[in-house]
Amino acid sequence: MAHKPRIVLLGKQGAGKGTQAKLLSRHYDIAHLSTGDLFRAQALAGTAFGLEAKRFMDGGDLVPDEIVMGVIEECLAPGGPLADGFILDGFPRNQLQAEQLEQVLTDRPIDVVVHLDVPREIVVERLSARRVCENNGAHIYSVNKPPSRGWICDECGGNVVQRDDDTPEAVNKRLDLYDTQTSPLIAFYNAKGLLAVVNGVGHPDHVLERLVSAIDVARSRR
Ligand code: ADP
Repeated sequence: MAHKPRIVLLGKQGAGKGTQAKLLSRHYDIAHLSTGDLFRAQALAGTAFGLEAKRFMDGGDLVPDEIVMGVIEECLAPGGPLADGFILDGFPRNQLQAEQLEQVLTDRPIDVVVHLDVPREIVVERLSARRVCENNGAHIYSVNKPPSRGWICDECGGNVVQRDDDTPEAVNKRLDLYDTQTSPLIAFYNAKGLLAVVNGVGHPDHVLERLVSAIDVARSRR
């Protein structure tokens, strides 16, 4: 039997990676790892690691590679939560992380890297309107699509707020970091024959359809 898909999702902040990764993890019944969600959960729990990561996140900086790898390696270890199909959202974010990922996954190589493509003007607009649940940043809303009862999360009852790093200064810094650190990975994975580009503009259901067909085509070629 074919193995479950092993997917990396690349795209700018606000491209919709979190929303789509959640839908794809349901569609393919695979694990979803969002490094951002993982760090925010640790920060909320007040662990030493989480508080350290929060200092970088709130200013719009990347969390240093050694901290990121320490956390991710455990998740990716053989027999760990990502042993049987996964979607990575927010990782890798630079060349070093991509190389380290390759080394950790020698037994389970990535099937496809999807670039969820959305122009910068649109993500800036989306990020300024984005609101998230305080308890679980994966529960995502916007000023144009609020929860059904006030600013209370429909999924878990938490307060729905603006993320600390969705201020205009932090957003611009994060997008600049994406351009310099993360976008070179598009060419890196293209050269390996792993890249699929999907237009991320439009209704989330339509974007999901595009993603599923791109992923299925890429897998049928392996
Ligand atoms: P966004 O993609 O909108 O920045 P995320 O939730 O993916 O949102 O990440 C939030 C923050 O978490 C990042 O700005 C960064 O500080 C940190 N982070 C997440 N993933 C990584 C990573 N792989 N390497 C370094 N920092 C990371």
